Amino acid sequence: MNRQYDFIIAGGGLAGLSLAYHLIQSNLRDRAILIIEPQRKEQNDRTWCFWTNQPTLFDEIVCRSWNQLQFKSADWEGVIDLRDYRYQMIRGIDFYRLVQRALSNRENVEFAHTRADRIEDDENGVRVFTDTQVFHGRWAFDSRFDLSQFKPDLSRYHYLQQHFKGWWIETPNKSFDPQAATLFDFRTEQKNDVRFFYVLPLSERQALIEYVLLGGAEYDRELTTYMETVLGIQDYRILAREGGVNPLTDCPLPRRAGKRIMTIGVAGGRVKPTSGYAFTRIQQDSAAMVDSLRRTDAPFNVPAGSRYYRLCDSLMLQLMYRHGAGIQSLFADLFKNNPVERVFHFLDERASPRENLALMASLPPGQFLRAFLQTQVLHQI
Ligand SMILES: Cc1cc2nc3c(=O)[nH]c(=O)nc-3n(C[C@H](O)[C@H](O)[C@H](O)COP(=O)(O)OP(=O)(O)OC[C@H]3O[C@@H](n4cnc5c(N)ncnc54)[C@H](O)[C@@H]3O)c2cc1C
Repeated sequence: MNRQYDFIIAGGGLAGLSLAYHLIQSNLRDRAILIIEPQRKEQNDRTWCFWTNQPTLFDEIVCRSWNQLQFKSADWEGVIDLRDYRYQMIRGIDFYRLVQRALSNRENVEFAHTRADRIEDDENGVRVFTDTQVFHGRWAFDSRFDLSQFKPDLSRYHYLQQHFKGWWIETPNKSFDPQAATLFDFRTEQKNDVRFFYVLPLSERQALIEYVLLGGAEYDRELTTYMETVLGIQDYRILAREGGVNPLTDCPLPRRAGKRIMTIGVAGGRVKPTSGYAFTRIQQDSAAMVDSLRRTDAPFNVPAGSRYYRLCDSLMLQLMYRHGAGIQSLFADLFKNNPVERVFHFLDERASPRENLALMASLPPGQFLRAFLQTQVLHQI
């Protein structure tokens, strides 16, 4: 007789492991959990940053935290004091190790290091097929997302790909201010795109320098030019590299993929379309699913996004798509003209109506009006 799991999680990346971690901290901690993940996750494949003014479940693995952020563009350079907030960095490898260690101590949690090929409902719950086995469960959570297969209807929705390429570097001399991370440095050719660098200093001699852009490019050449010409650092050693691609879209990604199948992470639309941030949203979503399971014995009762923020996301995507080079002045206005709490509340989709009005009033109205008239978002209102 096949074992019946309570929860089968396809994909043990950020979303899958976060859900499992939240489950074992709740009163569902003894339920049978299976995580299907082909990779052993023994490498630092990416680094997550996020802002917060609360303690988090992951405070012990925060490798660096900053109280100030720098903004650099042709029009404006400023230092943003985060006041009650802090901007935190977690290395992927530390997250994987922490969660895997917590899960491996539990008899009710298993890993299958293989690919989940198909997930479907059956009369008793769900069936998950790998190339050699079929696993049975009550609920499945699916974080598989194949970028090459994602083809939204572009006559209705926006879709951009956010490319990241990062170098962990070390310099022989003092080159960085460890007190302030650079959130945006737009001092690079925009090529009608949205292109910037961020600099996350660990110390005066070590930093992660990441290049972010919406179209593909010759990342290494751009990183070298930024390091040598803009930062003026000629002598450095690359300790490690990382990178990846994030989908930015307003095309809804359904949370229900079956009667007992729920999408999570990127696959569940947890990437904020206009910023690419997902870490905090994935933690909130994991907590909400666990709460829903506890209350209703089903995971689907999670907060739906608001129409207002969906419209804002669509407008921003439209601006990025059509007027990419103008984004830096818009972001400069956003940070220059608003207290940082208001910007974070807006990005976290929890600003009050008064904060939203004040924030909109601080931005050039022409740009938004033009985007509104050009955009395909009217069907979403
Ligand atoms: C380079 C990069 C940097 C980012 N930086 C930030 C940041 O600083 N802050 C932030 O908030 N967000 C950031 N994001 C966005 C987001 O937080 C991450 O993409 C996050 O990893 C998404 O979590 P996920 O679980 O959906 O995807 P992943 O973490 O990619 O996990 C998906 C997992 O599914 C597995 N998988 C794939 N196919 C199968 C299959 N058939 N069967 C089983 N498993 C499968 C993969 O091996 C992978 O482990 C970044 C994204 C990228 C790409």
